[in-house]
Amino acid sequence: MDCVFCKIIHRELPSETLLETDKVIVILDINPINDGHALVIPKTHCENFWAVGAEFYSEILQAIHRASQAICKVTQCTDFNILQNNGACAGQDVFHVHFHIIPRHENDGVKF
Ligand code: 5GP
Ligand code: ZN
Repeated sequence: MDCVFCKIIHRELPSETLLETDKVIVILDINPINDGHALVIPKTHCENFWAVGAEFYSEILQAIHRASQAICKVTQCTDFNILQNNGACAGQDVFHVHFHIIPRHENDGVKF
Protein backbone atom coordinates (compact mmCIF):
# COMPACT_ATOMS: atom_id res chain seq x y z
CA MET A 1 0.00 0.00 0.00
CA ASP A 2 1.35 3.38 -0.96
CA CYS A 3 0.65 5.23 2.27
CA VAL A 4 3.20 7.69 3.58
CA PHE A 5 2.13 7.27 7.21
CA CYS A 6 2.24 3.47 7.01
CA LYS A 7 5.78 3.82 5.65
CA ILE A 8 6.69 6.06 8.59
CA ILE A 9 5.09 3.60 11.04
CA HIS A 10 7.07 0.73 9.48
CA ARG A 11 10.30 2.76 9.50
CA GLU A 12 10.50 2.81 5.71
CA LEU A 13 10.55 6.61 5.86
CA PRO A 14 12.13 8.79 8.55
CA SER A 15 10.20 10.99 10.95
CA GLU A 16 10.70 13.03 14.09
CA THR A 17 8.83 10.84 16.55
CA LEU A 18 7.59 12.46 19.77
CA LEU A 19 5.70 9.57 21.31
CA GLU A 20 4.92 5.99 20.41
CA THR A 21 2.78 3.22 21.88
CA ASP A 22 1.67 -0.10 20.44
CA LYS A 23 -1.40 1.64 18.94
CA VAL A 24 -0.35 5.19 18.02
CA ILE A 25 2.59 7.27 16.90
CA VAL A 26 3.02 11.03 17.28
CA ILE A 27 5.35 12.73 14.81
CA LEU A 28 6.27 16.27 13.86
CA ASP A 29 4.58 17.48 10.67
CA ILE A 30 7.03 17.76 7.77
CA ASN A 31 5.45 21.06 6.68
CA PRO A 32 4.48 22.69 9.99
CA ILE A 33 1.91 25.47 10.27
CA ASN A 34 3.68 26.53 13.49
CA ASP A 35 6.64 25.22 15.49
CA GLY A 36 5.64 22.01 17.22
CA HIS A 37 2.88 21.11 14.74
CA ALA A 38 2.45 17.38 15.30
CA LEU A 39 0.34 14.51 14.00
CA VAL A 40 -1.23 11.75 16.10
CA ILE A 41 -1.60 8.68 13.90
CA PRO A 42 -3.12 5.28 14.72
CA LYS A 43 -0.75 2.51 13.70
CA THR A 44 -3.41 0.56 11.81
CA HIS A 45 -4.18 1.93 8.38
CA CYS A 46 -7.67 3.41 8.15
CA GLU A 47 -8.76 6.11 5.80
CA ASN A 48 -10.81 8.43 7.94
CA PHE A 49 -12.38 9.09 11.33
CA TRP A 50 -15.30 6.73 10.74
CA ALA A 51 -12.93 3.86 9.98
CA VAL A 52 -11.05 4.07 13.28
CA GLY A 53 -11.68 1.02 15.46
CA ALA A 54 -13.20 1.69 18.87
CA GLU A 55 -10.20 0.01 20.50
CA PHE A 56 -8.13 3.03 19.38
CA TYR A 57 -10.37 5.75 20.78
CA SER A 58 -8.96 6.09 24.26
CA GLU A 59 -5.36 5.66 23.18
CA ILE A 60 -5.69 8.35 20.51
CA LEU A 61 -7.26 10.76 22.99
CA GLN A 62 -4.58 10.02 25.59
CA ALA A 63 -1.85 10.61 22.99
CA ILE A 64 -3.44 13.92 21.96
CA HIS A 65 -3.64 14.90 25.62
CA ARG A 66 -0.05 13.97 26.47
CA ALA A 67 1.50 15.28 23.26
CA SER A 68 -0.35 18.61 23.31
CA GLN A 69 0.84 19.29 26.86
CA ALA A 70 4.44 18.41 26.00
CA ILE A 71 4.40 20.43 22.78
CA CYS A 72 2.86 23.50 24.43
CA LYS A 73 5.46 23.32 27.20
CA VAL A 74 8.33 23.20 24.71
CA THR A 75 6.90 25.88 22.43
CA GLN A 76 5.86 28.02 25.41
CA CYS A 77 2.25 28.43 24.47
CA THR A 78 -1.06 27.72 26.14
CA ASP A 79 -3.21 27.78 23.03
CA PHE A 80 -3.50 25.12 20.36
CA ASN A 81 -5.81 23.59 17.79
CA ILE A 82 -6.71 19.93 17.46
CA LEU A 83 -7.64 19.48 13.82
CA GLN A 84 -8.83 16.43 11.92
CA ASN A 85 -9.69 16.49 8.22
CA ASN A 86 -11.90 13.91 6.50
CA GLY A 87 -12.03 13.80 2.70
CA ALA A 88 -10.55 15.99 0.00
CA CYS A 89 -13.23 18.70 0.33
CA ALA A 90 -12.31 19.03 4.01
CA GLY A 91 -8.59 19.35 3.22
CA GLN A 92 -7.45 15.77 3.80
CA ASP A 93 -4.28 15.10 1.82
CA VAL A 94 -3.05 11.91 3.47
CA PHE A 95 -5.72 9.24 3.54
CA HIS A 96 -4.55 7.57 6.71
CA VAL A 97 -6.50 9.14 9.55
CA HIS A 98 -4.54 11.55 11.74
CA PHE A 99 -5.09 14.34 14.24
CA HIS A 100 -3.16 17.60 13.99
CA ILE A 101 -1.92 19.36 17.13
CA ILE A 102 -1.07 22.95 16.21
CA PRO A 103 0.40 25.33 18.80
CA ARG A 104 -1.00 28.85 18.51
CA HIS A 105 0.40 32.23 19.46
CA GLU A 106 -1.09 35.69 19.51
CA ASN A 107 -1.15 37.23 16.01
CA ASP A 108 0.54 34.19 14.49
CA GLY A 109 -1.31 34.79 11.23
CA VAL A 110 -2.57 31.21 10.94
CA LYS A 111 -5.89 30.93 9.14
CA PHE A 112 -7.88 27.78 8.46
P1 5GP B 1 -4.11 16.48 6.00
O1 5GP B 1 -4.20 17.62 5.03
O2 5GP B 1 -4.25 15.14 5.33
O3 5GP B 1 -5.02 16.64 7.19
O4 5GP B 1 -2.66 16.55 6.61
C1 5GP B 1 -1.57 15.83 6.14
C2 5GP B 1 -0.36 16.34 6.84
O5 5GP B 1 0.67 15.40 6.69
C3 5GP B 1 0.16 17.67 6.28
O6 5GP B 1 0.21 18.65 7.30
C4 5GP B 1 1.53 17.32 5.76
O7 5GP B 1 2.48 18.34 5.94
C5 5GP B 1 1.88 16.07 6.54
N1 5GP B 1 2.79 15.18 5.84
C6 5GP B 1 2.68 14.74 4.55
N2 5GP B 1 3.70 13.91 4.24
C7 5GP B 1 4.45 13.81 5.38
C8 5GP B 1 5.65 13.09 5.67
O8 5GP B 1 6.23 12.38 4.84
N3 5GP B 1 6.14 13.23 6.93
C9 5GP B 1 5.52 14.01 7.87
N4 5GP B 1 6.11 14.07 9.08
N5 5GP B 1 4.40 14.70 7.62
C10 5GP B 1 3.87 14.60 6.38
ZN1 ZN C 1 -1.53 4.09 6.12
